[in-house]
Amino acid sequence: MNSKEKERIKKKLLKEKDEILKKLSEFRNEGKEIEPGIAQDMVDKAESSYTKEFLFELSDTERKLLIQIDNALKKIERDDFGICEMCQKEISIKRLSAVPWTPYCIKCQEKQEKKISQ
Ligand SMILES: [Zn+2]
Repeated sequence: MNSKEKERIKKKLLKEKDEILKKLSEFRNEGKEIEPGIAQDMVDKAESSYTKEFLFELSDTERKLLIQIDNALKKIERDDFGICEMCQKEISIKRLSAVPWTPYCIKCQEKQEKKISQ
């Protein structure tokens, strides 16, 4: 990977990170607004707790993504970006362009997903 590609991926990572942080703060604001509705009414209560769970789940996923993005940024600084954490082989530039925060190459990712679904 040349430095131009690296720079492009770094920008993409930082942009993604920004968007998640923005989203997370929006979720937090919405959470505060949902709270009073819970005390008001049974129907509202059910709806609100569902929404709350949904938001929590979403933000949890985003938090995980945020960690992966931070790891990828650290790897760029250390100059070992683009190496699969499992097999130590280079991750294809095509994959990195699509999901620059991925720690695994496509083969290892598939192995992981199979493990989870079994
Ligand atoms: Zn691999």
